[in-house]
Amino acid sequence: MYTELVEELMGLDNDSITERFRELELKRRRIEAEMTAVVAVADARGVYGDDGHRSIKGWMRANANWSGCDVSTMRRVVALFEACPAVAEALLAGHIGRAQVVELARARSNPRCGARLVDVLDLLLENAEHLSFEDFRTVVRRWEHLADEDGTLDDAETNHANRTAGLHEVNGCVDLRASGGRPLDAAEMLGIFERFVEEEFRADVAARTELYGPDAPVSLLPRTDAQRRFDALLRIFRTASSMPADARAPEPVVNIVCDIKTLETLLARHGLIPFPDDLPLVDLARARCETDSGIVVPPEHVLRAALQGHVRRVIVDGNGVVLDMGRKRRLFKGAARVAAKLMACHCGHPGCTIGAHYAEVDHLDEWHRDGGATDIANAGIRCRSHNPIKHRLGLVDRRSKSGQVVTFRRDGTPMLPVGCRLPEFEPDDENLDEVTGSDHEANDATALIEEGCLLLKQVLHELEEQLEAMAA
Ligand SMILES: [Zn+2]
Repeated sequence: MYTELVEELMGLDNDSITERFRELELKRRRIEAEMTAVVAVADARGVYGDDGHRSIKGWMRANANWSGCDVSTMRRVVALFEACPAVAEALLAGHIGRAQVVELARARSNPRCGARLVDVLDLLLENAEHLSFEDFRTVVRRWEHLADEDGTLDDAETNHANRTAGLHEVNGCVDLRASGGRPLDAAEMLGIFERFVEEEFRADVAARTELYGPDAPVSLLPRTDAQRRFDALLRIFRTASSMPADARAPEPVVNIVCDIKTLETLLARHGLIPFPDDLPLVDLARARCETDSGIVVPPEHVLRAALQGHVRRVIVDGNGVVLDMGRKRRLFKGAARVAAKLMACHCGHPGCTIGAHYAEVDHLDEWHRDGGATDIANAGIRCRSHNPIKHRLGLVDRRSKSGQVVTFRRDGTPMLPVGCRLPEFEPDDENLDEVTGSDHEANDATALIEEGCLLLKQVLHELEEQLEAMAA
């Protein structure tokens, strides 16, 4: 009985409850793998014919009463496992979960580039295990954009052509629907919306603090999250209507992060610079062309956005490092602060999805305690609630050899999802001076960035001249 099960669990201590949850997740992964194998065999042997089903779809529906969505997802997963058995092994071993498998199955079913997924499978599996699901999905989308450049550009243009919005009154209520547009439109609108929602949240926190003091719980906020989002939308409309038509454009809310290699390839393809003799193979783990919130953007749109000027462009080197400030300042400020935020899409506390926009820049190694440099490679991102929690719980972040940041508890145990193996760290990780003192690399990175910015400026200047000439 469910009630008895709940009672039994209530008798356990906290650690045992977490342990039970992690054990069940591992079991669930094994069962998912086993079920896929059963469906694959049933399909191959034509078992569905025995009861008169025309295909494996009817067999799944009849035997498990699955939804159409469940059925088609299972068929995609069967196809994925057949083409890429390593994914099935990873699920069976418990290193990756169902969400990661379904995302890979979706990419594999892309008719234009799915067959080439197998070429980058090792890297994607490694990322599936070690990145948060959201970051992993960004990597998969990044690959799709690279593997199917024309297709994703076509999709983006189709979505742009099909853009629509409607605002109606239904039974005395607002009914607002909008869809379509380009990836950068989405990022810009999301950025503005989030900024207004954040302001509503701050207003609520201020009201609560005034009434109940600074340590009052979240439940005492005057409005729910849903109510604040509605009020934020209303305020966007009101703000827009109160602005004079010729008001200066507000600060850009979108940052595009693009690596130098992607930029060079793009510029070369448009005949703006000669093709480099040794056009580098695109490194999926490091190639970036996305907004700082993780929305992957077709490189072609970057040029357009750069010309329109309402998007901030950031060029990164092969390690995703924007710039380095050395060990001079206690706090991340100005450009270094922006740069640190651009490296991450969200708060670095395991499981937190608060966007980096609203996060505070922390140090992976406490500056005063360990002598950590105010260095981008050393910057961690924590949201407002997780920054104090990190200090209170004595959590320590360490960057692995492959660049992944792992959070360790005070007792030295890592906060990793179940099934995820601990990555390798530099052997002399304790010696932080050695880790952060890579001046040589930092200088190289800074030089690369300067070079990239210069290149971009030159090209933009040329483009503007060309456009002016065309307009004349
Ligand atoms: Zn957080």
